[in-house]
Amino acid sequence: MNEQPLPWFSDGFGYTTGVTGGLVVVSELSPEMGEESVAVVGEEDPEHDTLALARPDIACLTLYIDPDNPDELLEFEALGLGEELLHGARKRFGLTRNVALLKRRARRGLFEYLRGDIDASTAAEKIGYAQLVARQILEAQERFLESIDQYLMNTTMAEPGYFEAHAQRYARRYDLNADEIAEGLEEHRRGLLASRIEESERYETVYQILEEIGQEWEPTIVQAVADAALDYPHVVAPVVVEGYDSVSLEATELRTILQDRLEAARRALKELTYDPIEAEYDKVLQDLQRELNDVDSRGHVRDVDIPLIDAPGAAHEPEISDTVRELDDPLDRILNHAFRMEGNFGGLVYWTSVDGEQSARWLVNPTIPDDAVDDETYHELWERAYVGDRLLTQLYRRVEEPVNRGRGDYTCPLCLLSAGWCGDGHCAYRPVREAINEQSERLVHELTELEILAT
Ligand SMILES: [Zn+2]
Repeated sequence: MNEQPLPWFSDGFGYTTGVTGGLVVVSELSPEMGEESVAVVGEEDPEHDTLALARPDIACLTLYIDPDNPDELLEFEALGLGEELLHGARKRFGLTRNVALLKRRARRGLFEYLRGDIDASTAAEKIGYAQLVARQILEAQERFLESIDQYLMNTTMAEPGYFEAHAQRYARRYDLNADEIAEGLEEHRRGLLASRIEESERYETVYQILEEIGQEWEPTIVQAVADAALDYPHVVAPVVVEGYDSVSLEATELRTILQDRLEAARRALKELTYDPIEAEYDKVLQDLQRELNDVDSRGHVRDVDIPLIDAPGAAHEPEISDTVRELDDPLDRILNHAFRMEGNFGGLVYWTSVDGEQSARWLVNPTIPDDAVDDETYHELWERAYVGDRLLTQLYRRVEEPVNRGRGDYTCPLCLLSAGWCGDGHCAYRPVREAINEQSERLVHELTELEILAT
């Protein structure tokens, strides 16, 4: 491991990130402000009931893990992290990119309206339809993705030695018995499996197909089949991207398309002449993509530039995996994996504990050079995306539940995660916050009309 410290990276709220040998080390994050944290991550996502939530469309992973609870850390690292990284990795494929484009359109609509560039009804159309179609895509692919994740995670966790390696690290760190930990994990996995089998009706078709392919092919190839199916080439309306095909689809149509693409990928795999054991993921995926996506010169949504989700992938360093695993602190391992392993998140929201005081924080991927994106840093890009995305959530809470209207102001999403302010002694998004507080009523009204029209 390279002991030479890299330059210090500053994150978004007056904390400095300790980066040693290219790794983020949480205990070296130094708070520069003494104010108490006001952050409650649960407030940001009142609906959360899991240890983490991945939003690949804004390259964000939110962790709800209690940093002082070894059981939660272990459970997430051994049973959850792999699945979140899988979600992150889907940014390479059509449907996730599609959602990212739609969400970007909605955020731009919001900021343009707040700047006074467009009026409320234009903004509502821009934001409303993009949000609606994004929701449709997410809904249409939900079961499909869950089935794939289940299959892949079950396969990974069934590999010999998978739990033992995790158990040994935790036993060392917390002075526990490694065999007991490994047994506990295995029991937990069986429990998960059992509860998922109960739900099997939900997953039947997709899971069955993957299992059948898996009887002959290696798990990575099963993944290539699923990924190829998800790589739907067209931009789903209403986003018009010049040079690309746009289509308008209902969620049910999209569900059928996914199913058909999976069947088509399975048939195409049979025609390929690879050895089921030796075949490489990349080659099989490329062949399947060619078979499934006959787009000629019309372009593929994969080729649309989306720096927010693509820039972290450019910092992809698979060889660092072993170095990350050697880190002693579980949270350090989790953060570094989330930034560096395939799936590469652009930013993380997480809880940390300093002298028994817990607080929420965010951290932008420090492996990305500061001049990564056009005329702004990746830092600025990610933070603006996060702020826009979360403000839209606050806005929609008012659109969907009239009881929330007129109840309290909008909160700066980054201040909510800060010890004090998100900027240096002030809220960096104050103008945005003030504008949305002043102007949102009209926009909420227009969006409400649009929602009624859509249903
Ligand atoms: Zn702020």
